[in-house]
Amino acid sequence: MSYEQNKITVSGETRQWTIDTAFLRSKVPWVREAPDRLDREILAMSEPGFDGLLLVFSDADGTYARLCPYCGDIIVPCQSDARCVSCHQTPDLRYHTDRIGFAGSVATQVGQLDDFGDTEGRPFLESLIQRTLDLPDGDRLKSWYHSYFLTRDNRIWFVPQLVAIFPDAWPEGSPDVYLRSTYFDLLAIPHAGIFDTSGTHCRILEKVPGNQDLLAQILLDQVVPRFAIDLMMADLGAQDLLDDVLITLENELGIQDRQKILDSVYRKGKTGAYDPFTRLYRQFTSRT
Ligand SMILES: [Zn+2]
Repeated sequence: MSYEQNKITVSGETRQWTIDTAFLRSKVPWVREAPDRLDREILAMSEPGFDGLLLVFSDADGTYARLCPYCGDIIVPCQSDARCVSCHQTPDLRYHTDRIGFAGSVATQVGQLDDFGDTEGRPFLESLIQRTLDLPDGDRLKSWYHSYFLTRDNRIWFVPQLVAIFPDAWPEGSPDVYLRSTYFDLLAIPHAGIFDTSGTHCRILEKVPGNQDLLAQILLDQVVPRFAIDLMMADLGAQDLLDDVLITLENELGIQDRQKILDSVYRKGKTGAYDPFTRLYRQFTSRT
């Protein structure tokens, strides 16, 4: 099978390449042991709703895509090497310490354009638009806000960038899934449901042993529901209701500890605060 990927390079051109799975077999132990597994991972990540590039990551910090030392663009496995997508150089990478994974997004619809081209959307989206209305085009903050959204077929999608890196023992263990810490600033929501913070990134998936699911399935089962909670938090925050909801939740559950309550909301399905939180979300937002 050949897998095409493409991206706009740092110099603004669209570049297309084919993932070199033979090269990955020669360099990445888990791919060598289970080559068809890599095929299945790539196919699953090509499904609608996902948008991801297969990249080479540094093991030193885990969360950063390797960048080309010559031009700063990303390094992808193509043409028999780990190669810069823009200038085609093959930086001297320490392959044995590098890992592969996807950088991209999982899309959630948060609004649409009406017949006049105006935005109708969730409260947090409307609030973000208000915050950026007075900023001039080209303003860095405005561009940063815009980088989280995509408009396609008159629908507005929330597309926060995440990285999902395969561990060395894959398919055993958990992928390392990270969001940028600034994600929480954009949504103006509390830091919760995270398991580690490494400077610029937050780990959003707990490390558990014994997983065998495809990465795309793990993102669907565990990361998409997490985004749903984040967006409910953001909606409540945008309407000045978040504090009221969390105080009500604390009183209902008899837990006067904000972080405990938040973590319990994010431990969806296990115990605790998720179901009451979604009920209170519906109650409070229907009043406004
Ligand atoms: Zn380069």
